[in-house]
Amino acid sequence: MEYKHFSHEHNLSVYQVQPGQQLRCYGCDKFCDKTIYACWQCNFFLHEHCGNATRFMRHPFHPSHHLILSPYPTYPSNCFLCNACGTNGTKFSYCCALCEVDLHVNCAFLPLKVSHKAHPHELLLNNTNRTGGQNCKVCRKLLDSKHWSYECGVCANYGVHTLCATSEISMGIYQAMDDGADTEASDQGATTTQQAPPPAREEPDDGQVQVELTVEEAIALFHLMGLTNAASYV
Ligand SMILES: [Zn+2]
Ligand SMILES: [Zn+2]
Ligand SMILES: [Zn+2]
Ligand SMILES: [Zn+2]
Ligand SMILES: [Zn+2]
Ligand SMILES: [Zn+2]
Repeated sequence: MEYKHFSHEHNLSVYQVQPGQQLRCYGCDKFCDKTIYACWQCNFFLHEHCGNATRFMRHPFHPSHHLILSPYPTYPSNCFLCNACGTNGTKFSYCCALCEVDLHVNCAFLPLKVSHKAHPHELLLNNTNRTGGQNCKVCRKLLDSKHWSYECGVCANYGVHTLCATSEISMGIYQAMDDGADTEASDQGATTTQQAPPPAREEPDDGQVQVELTVEEAIALFHLMGLTNAASYV
């Protein structure tokens, strides 16, 4: 069975990665495992969850606009700086062109709460600079106040880099954030009342999402469509 993904000109086939095989995912730039979509002619590979990532998402930290999945950076530098983790990306991103928000696909779907074996309490995803200037409790390096962190809601000043908190989490199916809930990112931080996304709610296979776009978003979207071949799975 063949698939078409909007980011690639050829049809993709489903393939099971063999142990020891090193195939890099074009969506998240990490090595593939398990089931992938592949174009062997181009050595183009996508994790199943990267290939099925929805074209739009709402993120509680950017409630005013939908984020649009872009198959490559739209900047002349050919890379983007991820607002969440602060590292560069060159592959897929979720972006708001109006606000210059860019997120790695992995970072866009970071869980709102995690448990970490280094700490007894749940850690909450935080986009404010409450622990800025302090050191990450896992790697001991500086927590950059401009980027996201996980913070303990119980202990004062317990912050961890997003990548340090989630290094042992393997990304599963990317789940849409609950669009129905009114999600207001607080300026005060650490008052996150978000529920974690429900487990294993799979997106429909056709990759289509029902969204309502504002006028500005529709314009931004048309810009993007002009740059990409906007076919979804067939
Ligand atoms: Zn991937
Ligand atoms: Zn190809
Ligand atoms: Zn990132
Ligand atoms: Zn925006
Ligand atoms: Zn760290
Ligand atoms: Zn704690």
